[in-house]
Amino acid sequence: MTAQIIDGKAFAERLRDKVGTVAADFAKRAGRKAGLAVVLVGADAASEVYVRSKGRATLVANMASFEHRLPADTAQGDLLALVERLNADPAVDGILVQLPLPQGLDEQTIISAISPDKDVDGFHVTNAGRLAVGQEGFVPCTPLGCMMLLTDRLGDLSSLNAVVIGRSNIVGKPMAQLLLDANATVTIAHSRTKDLADVVRRADIVVAAVGRPEMVRGDWIKPGATIIDVGINRLPPEEGAEKGRLVGDVAFTEASEHAGAITPVPGGVGPMTIAVLLRNTLVAAYRNEGIALPDGAL
Ligand code: NAD
Repeated sequence: MTAQIIDGKAFAERLRDKVGTVAADFAKRAGRKAGLAVVLVGADAASEVYVRSKGRATLVANMASFEHRLPADTAQGDLLALVERLNADPAVDGILVQLPLPQGLDEQTIISAISPDKDVDGFHVTNAGRLAVGQEGFVPCTPLGCMMLLTDRLGDLSSLNAVVIGRSNIVGKPMAQLLLDANATVTIAHSRTKDLADVVRRADIVVAAVGRPEMVRGDWIKPGATIIDVGINRLPPEEGAEKGRLVGDVAFTEASEHAGAITPVPGGVGPMTIAVLLRNTLVAAYRNEGIALPDGAL
């Protein structure tokens, strides 16, 4: 069997286009654009790239982008004061504090200071709790993006066995919750799981969110399974090359011989994250203005 490729890049482009159209409608009705504030503390190179591309994508989607760059030695109190100002600013619908934060700043304290109604990353405990009990809130962007790809491919997930590898608060746990809400039978595997290969062999759906290059091998995959590879790992550069190749947590070529469908790395889950961030920001804007989102719009 040769797996179909789940084209997350194309899906994300369609979602961003849709968000752009709905955001234009929001701007007309609200008399202002939906706004996303992104806070970057310090000069981490990877974070800088993410923040720049988030800012660009926000503008392209007919929304306002507010970027706040603070030095690495910013005091926690000053960062909290900025978050408070953004919480109170009616032009700001979503607040994202780029992680990781430099040493000396407590991520949990900062995330907890963001208003849950502007927490478009879905990291605040209030939003984690809302997801756990099935209330409306904000769901972390990466797992929500994975879920969109899965339901687009498979439709109804009832009765399917899903294995999520990884139990982080930002990917593994919310992913498992979303699959459970969609009536899949869910197993969460992690670093202490025994016989991981056997656990994965039972899965109709595998979501790998570990951060270990090509850990999931082809012969672990049940024939026809759908594989969502969240991992982003850079291999050491080959001789003469400046940068190593990006690979996922799944051995793509091997797994493609068994799976029914699989996301590539890059071009699978990665592009979904920013698209869902824009989507969450727009949803926040409608809620903050008390305007109903057009039916089925997003
Ligand atoms: P994390 O380090 O917080 O969590 C990793 C999880 O993997 C842990 O729960 C751990 O128990 C589990 N694990 C570690 N070793 C294992 C093993 N040998 N067997 C089974 N489980 C094991 O990582 P994270 O933030 O959840 O991210 C996971 C991966 O996804 C990383 O590669 C990250 O770069 C990537 N990621 C991608 C996106 C995106 O595409 N936009 C977003 C977030 C994370």
